[in-house]
Amino acid sequence: MDIVLEVCDYYLFDRLYAAALPKGGKVDQFIQNSPVFQQVSSKISQFLPSSSCSGCSDTVDNALFGNTTASSTFSNALNFQFNATSVNVANLPSYLWSKVMSLQNKSEIYGLKPTFLPAGDYFSSSILARSNLLRESLTILVITTIFGWLLYLIVAYLSYVFVFDRRIFNHPRYLKNQMWLEIERAMTAIPVMVALTNPFFLLELKGFSRLYFDINECTGGWKFVFLQIPMFILFTDCLIYCIHRWLHWPSVYKRLHKPHHKWIVCTPFASHAFHPVDGWAQSLPYHLYPLLFPLHKVLYLGLFTFVNFWTVMIHDGNYMSNDPVVNGTACHTVHHLYFNYNYGQFTTLWDRIGRSYRRPDDSFFIKETTAEKEKQEWKKQVTQMEEIRNELEGKVDDREYAEES
Ligand SMILES: [Zn+2]
Ligand SMILES: [Zn+2]
Repeated sequence: MDIVLEVCDYYLFDRLYAAALPKGGKVDQFIQNSPVFQQVSSKISQFLPSSSCSGCSDTVDNALFGNTTASSTFSNALNFQFNATSVNVANLPSYLWSKVMSLQNKSEIYGLKPTFLPAGDYFSSSILARSNLLRESLTILVITTIFGWLLYLIVAYLSYVFVFDRRIFNHPRYLKNQMWLEIERAMTAIPVMVALTNPFFLLELKGFSRLYFDINECTGGWKFVFLQIPMFILFTDCLIYCIHRWLHWPSVYKRLHKPHHKWIVCTPFASHAFHPVDGWAQSLPYHLYPLLFPLHKVLYLGLFTFVNFWTVMIHDGNYMSNDPVVNGTACHTVHHLYFNYNYGQFTTLWDRIGRSYRRPDDSFFIKETTAEKEKQEWKKQVTQMEEIRNELEGKVDDREYAEES
């Protein structure tokens, strides 16, 4: 995220923030003279350990407005050393704070100095410095929402034009205006998913992740970079399986996961059409991984883009392979049709271990078929599906199908 953010700051946001909130401008003067600001500043100074407060007059300034540098706030907290045996209720918050801060890699804090690009004319012209928490939250919200929308629309559209099997429009369980409903659901969910994910991006930008850039002996070299690909896939596949199974608990399913199962058969635009909390929960493993394990920054961006591609791909209805290991389109179609099978994202491993694997119907892979035979197959699917759906959702079905049944 820091690479993307630095590029965006350099070319756009440094200039925008400098114009909107310049140093020495009216807002800056108002904040500096505000009694509320003085009070909050002294409150935070009290919270921080006393021996670390030589620079605490700048605490609020640093943490909220970034007038100097956020690093002094963090380093002040870090400089205070606790003796674990002396911890008591009174100093517990400070003790916990020091423990959390000990996980921070100060050299990885974003925005204190330019890293990949030069400083530029507007580098420190705004009262909201690059390292400022409010600025980072706001900028991330804007760029990841736009990136998310574009990635979703472009990939799903390309899949719709070049890959998607449009015969699905005639399936008896295709909904009225389904594709537009999918797009509407995804476009409104993405900004909320991004907002919920914001804390993870901020943790990365504040140096709490294990993301790294230099490839050398100390970081394991290229071999380790390539090893991170299967590690990332296996780790996230396992956690997504667990989260997805949890989302199918009847009480959770009704509240969070049912919107994604509105689509009995899918178009590529169903890929991101979730309840935002559902989409966020299923994306958690992607953000947990770099907090726990070393991961190259560029590879992370590549993997992040890949998982979005993959999500679109498994909803495109084009059954290219019936691989017993890969959880491809056919496996995920089974999940949408029959609900309680194939919860995995990338592989069938956890479904096999968890006894929820269901081999895709052979009929999925027959390319040459007559309209009559296809109708018969769909009828069979609907009969099986209705039985499972009644059990999971109850007898009342609130979906409105394109074809009257
Ligand atoms: Zn599901
Ligand atoms: Zn799905």
